[in-house]
Amino acid sequence: MSADAYYLGLDVGSAASKAVIVDDAGEIRAKAVYPAGAGTPGPETVVRQVLDEVGIERDGLVASCATGYGRHLFDWTDYEMSELSCHAKGAVRLFPGVRTVIDIGGQDAKVLSIGEDGKLQSFVMNDKCAAGTGRFLEVMAQVFGCDVSDLSEFDRQSTQVASISSTCTVFAESEVISKLASGTPIPDIAAGVDSSVVERTYGLVKRLGVVPKVAMTGGVALNGALRERLAERIGQPIMTSEISQFNGALGAALYALEKHARA
Ligand code: ADP
Repeated sequence: MSADAYYLGLDVGSAASKAVIVDDAGEIRAKAVYPAGAGTPGPETVVRQVLDEVGIERDGLVASCATGYGRHLFDWTDYEMSELSCHAKGAVRLFPGVRTVIDIGGQDAKVLSIGEDGKLQSFVMNDKCAAGTGRFLEVMAQVFGCDVSDLSEFDRQSTQVASISSTCTVFAESEVISKLASGTPIPDIAAGVDSSVVERTYGLVKRLGVVPKVAMTGGVALNGALRERLAERIGQPIMTSEISQFNGALGAALYALEKHARA
């Protein structure tokens, strides 16, 4: 096969769209993210960006695979795979030897247990409630008047965690507003917000048990302070990568490559 055979993975999330192109060695050749997901121009935008980056049009792709919440919206991809399968595949590539994957996205949080053979064994998921997800963090960032990417830095400046007792996002938002109004510093509340997501996640992780090595993926993995709090809570180091948010799209691209090779 020529070195310029390209396979596309498209992850149409609830909060963000991600696209990855791999070559036939499975190496990443292009990636793009857009901060809006299913039902927005996000998916087409990231596809355009990665195609431009490698200098081809859509018909120049050898194969493509869609995953994520909005994957059914795309009838032009060759394959569709569940998020769980794609996240497992991406994580095994990014983190060799990984046995537990914690993925927190915009609208759900999941924990995947990976066997020694690198295959998905079991999983637990919270997709019923915004608490413990990226959405929760976005709502709180809005209250602070900052970007969600600033929460980690605020958390790191905290001297005393202002814990959030409400488990519901709407009530927690009111609680944050009232703490701000009573003069609690933003860094302390930000630390409380991160800790609240950590507690939720810990509840999920406990149900499967923590088998090292542990990795964290999804957009929320970009929040370094939250990741460190979670590592402390579960008592295990947590691996991550600067491309953690592309994990599902990478898994989808690798599926496109694998399925095409088998076809
Ligand atoms: P989905 O696949 O459900 O669309 P993602 O895995 O892309 O979700 O994660 C989206 C979430 O990641 C957002 O809701 C936000 O909380 C978080 N996020 C995105 N970018 C950043 C960043 N730079 N720093 C911290 N958190 C981020």
